[in-house]
Amino acid sequence: MAARAVVVGGGICGLATAHRLARGGMAVTLLEASDQLGGLGTFFTSRGRTVERFYHCVMPTDTALLELLDEVGLRESVEWRPTSMGMVVDGTRHSFNSALDLLRFTPLGLVDRLRFGVVSLLLRRLGRSRDLDLTRTEDWLRGLYGDRIWEVLLAPMFGAKFGAAFGDVPALYLWQRLGRESNESVRGYPAGGYRSVIDALRASIEAHGGEVRTSAPVARLEAGPDRVVVTLPGGETIEAGHAVSTVPLPSLRAIADAGLAPLLPEVELPYQGVVNALFFLRKPLSGHYWAPVLRSGTDFDGVIEMTPLTGSERYDDRHLVYVMHYTGRESALYLEDSDSIARRWTEQLLSIHSGLAVDDVDEVRVFKAPFVEPVYPLGYLTRRPAVVVPGTRLRLATTAHVYPNVTSWNSSVELSRTVTDALLRDARSSPDQENTAWPAESAR
Ligand SMILES: Cc1cc2nc3c(=O)[nH]c(=O)nc-3n(C[C@H](O)[C@H](O)[C@H](O)COP(=O)(O)OP(=O)(O)OC[C@H]3O[C@@H](n4cnc5c(N)ncnc54)[C@H](O)[C@@H]3O)c2cc1C
Repeated sequence: MAARAVVVGGGICGLATAHRLARGGMAVTLLEASDQLGGLGTFFTSRGRTVERFYHCVMPTDTALLELLDEVGLRESVEWRPTSMGMVVDGTRHSFNSALDLLRFTPLGLVDRLRFGVVSLLLRRLGRSRDLDLTRTEDWLRGLYGDRIWEVLLAPMFGAKFGAAFGDVPALYLWQRLGRESNESVRGYPAGGYRSVIDALRASIEAHGGEVRTSAPVARLEAGPDRVVVTLPGGETIEAGHAVSTVPLPSLRAIADAGLAPLLPEVELPYQGVVNALFFLRKPLSGHYWAPVLRSGTDFDGVIEMTPLTGSERYDDRHLVYVMHYTGRESALYLEDSDSIARRWTEQLLSIHSGLAVDDVDEVRVFKAPFVEPVYPLGYLTRRPAVVVPGTRLRLATTAHVYPNVTSWNSSVELSRTVTDALLRDARSSPDQENTAWPAESAR
């Protein structure tokens, strides 16, 4: 019998982890609380078509994710397209891609436009010589761009992502992000949508003898030096030689038993959640993949138009637009009823797109997620929790561990690779007591 591992959470990190462990010859059980796999990349159905609840795309630099897609035969399914960026400031829409766009960008005076262009070109290089993990984003950017650009443009953009603490987030986060994205970028999207990736990973886990269970929320987790025991709500227990938890740290604390709780990372991280609405429109919106929305009387602060990237056929010839606001799970907006958000945000979307009428809106859906990413504190590189919970067979692979990489499917896959490589090494060197035989790297 093979060494056994339990993976808690069926988002991309849990799926990639279970896939690698199963391929490495372990007997894997993946437990996902909800009735669907995919976590933040999960989907819903509209007019019989599968659509992501939250906008997702692949970047050409997503090496770890692309390698994983290769392993499940989906790399070639990613369709790449050039995409562009817009910007809505004080209710006016701007294109924000070329030097000419910048020269025409009236929210900034001419000198600031030039300064913005020059500093943005040099920003990645300027960051190399500084300890950006210990530098506040505000201090770094205000110093380079000046007060006016910070206040008019950058502060509202970062506030949108990280809330009130935006200026305090380490500048390293932004620097990493700039390495992944730029205004005019080639972006990718799997031909079968993100669901095809989720389904392929599930199929691979099962083909390698693993078990994938949905509607299986772990209610209690015990971990010691030799084994891990998870308990499901009906009282069923599963014992294993190893476990990997991919659930956000607050959710892990809620299920840890009295022995495990004191061993968990001490760092208290606030998490941003998200409120996000999807609009299926009868006509295109702007043609830009994404546009920050600043000071324009909307509660949302960004618009993502998927159809320039994905085409409209997959949405039954409609155009899909996401709008979003990142916020804490206890905020008034997060707690507000979804129908009332849908109504208000529809009016707000129309107010910044004069060519759009209410009859152009075919369907609106609102989805929320409580844990999107931690708001990282200064100096987090040294405070980042360890992957192995000391003295136990439990490993953690969560969005609190991907820093300084940006939270993305790619970062989760990269993290899962590090964690599974170490776990497989450990399991080979100290097989479970009940399982004497370690299978050769058989099932690859
Ligand atoms: C609006 C938005 C846009 C994004 N855009 C992109 C993008 O364009 N490209 C990109 O690569 N990434 C994007 N991301 C980020 C990406 O979705 C995440 O970084 C990634 O999905 C995190 O995966 P994960 O597996 O670590 O966590 P999650 O996806 O959060 O998965 C954790 C899983 O654990 C489960 N769980 C929780 N508690 C329990 C329990 N007790 N028992 C069992 N299961 C449990 C949850 O149900 C969930 O399925 C976006 C995210 C959001 C919200």
